[in-house]
Amino acid sequence: MLKTKNNNQVHLDGVSLQKISEMYGTPCYVYSKNSLINDFEEYKKAFKSKKDILICYSVKACSNINILKIFNNLGSGFDIVSLGELERLKHIGADPNKIVFSGVAKSDEEIRASLEYGILLFNVESIAELENINNIAKKMDTKANISIRVNPDIDPKTHPYISTGLKSSKFGIAIDQAVDVYEYANKMKNVIPIGIDAHIGSQIFDIVPFVDSLDKLIELYSKLKDKNINIKFIDMGGGLGIKYSDEDNPPSKKEFASKIIDRIKNLDCNLILEPGRSLVGNSGYLLTSVLYEKQNYDKDFLIVDAGMNDLLRPSLYDAYHKIEEVNKTSGERKKYNVVGPICETGDILAKDVELPPLVKNDLLIIHSVGAYGYVMSSNYNTRPKAPEVLIEDEKIILIRKKETITQIMENEFNNE
Ligand SMILES: *Cc1c(COP(=O)(O)O)cnc(C)c1O
Repeated sequence: MLKTKNNNQVHLDGVSLQKISEMYGTPCYVYSKNSLINDFEEYKKAFKSKKDILICYSVKACSNINILKIFNNLGSGFDIVSLGELERLKHIGADPNKIVFSGVAKSDEEIRASLEYGILLFNVESIAELENINNIAKKMDTKANISIRVNPDIDPKTHPYISTGLKSSKFGIAIDQAVDVYEYANKMKNVIPIGIDAHIGSQIFDIVPFVDSLDKLIELYSKLKDKNINIKFIDMGGGLGIKYSDEDNPPSKKEFASKIIDRIKNLDCNLILEPGRSLVGNSGYLLTSVLYEKQNYDKDFLIVDAGMNDLLRPSLYDAYHKIEEVNKTSGERKKYNVVGPICETGDILAKDVELPPLVKNDLLIIHSVGAYGYVMSSNYNTRPKAPEVLIEDEKIILIRKKETITQIMENEFNNE
């Protein structure tokens, strides 16, 4: 939790952010372990009355091994989308029986490695992929459990880039074709259809699209039952929204759960959820320091040392992130566009932020960057990726060293 202490400095879980910046420099990602645990426990509590539930944290939201370990220790399963994410889970010794593999196109290598590790199931996204999984499982003399990811044609009313369950999107298999595809899969020797899956989008604030999607999955479940295809898992994907601005009012996990459980409680079927953002989004912060202040025509700019390579969401989705100063002063506030040092007009972190007078090296904190923050960072402009720090019981733990410029160049040395 962020709190301004007596010395007018903002602290996170009792730890001085100023101190973290002195230890590891800026930009620097900081996570609250307490807050991560609370969000997971809140999910568990909300879904307590649904006995057969598997929460599969969506690794792509924030994939640091140390954060995966926290969820693993809490009993979480995992939703992965790449070989790299699988390797992270193997590294921490995650239970293969709690891993689902999503993603629009799994490579042969990814399928082989997942079968070897013995994951719970693949969320299959096309007929071609289904055939490929069957072929690979056959060569390995094994059977692959699968869900078909259906596209329920539902508008989650979120940003178009993160709406994934519309007719026009590349994801899943049209729901009216699904029965045929299940029958096809059921005849295959090396795949076993055991689940139904959908993921309609991200940062969703309205429970209705989730419920509509679930109803379509339940309808499909019954149709398949009539054809003697017995489904054991209904996977609703992720997508629950979080609070970014003070005005945001996303549904609580409890509200969300109550609407879902009502519909599914009488089915003899496990529920899988794949939350990402709602498990990590509000637990992460980005510390950045002021480089320069400047005025162009009548616009005031504050140029900071974090750019779109460190935090892409504002540039990519026009996303809002709250920004505040770490040292509170009583100076008169004025509106700034807070921008990064990168050579792109789109390198904006936030527009019209009210801030007091700030000078070089003053510290700012950007809120709610735990999900799709660090993981989307890049080396654009040959900028090293930021370090990551975890706060645990007032201790400061470095969970990722700052990248070095040599590391960035390393793979280029061969051809000199
Ligand atoms: C990204 C993704 C998630 C997680 O979404 P959030 O909005 O972060 O909860 C879950 N499932 C699939 C298939 C995804 O692609």
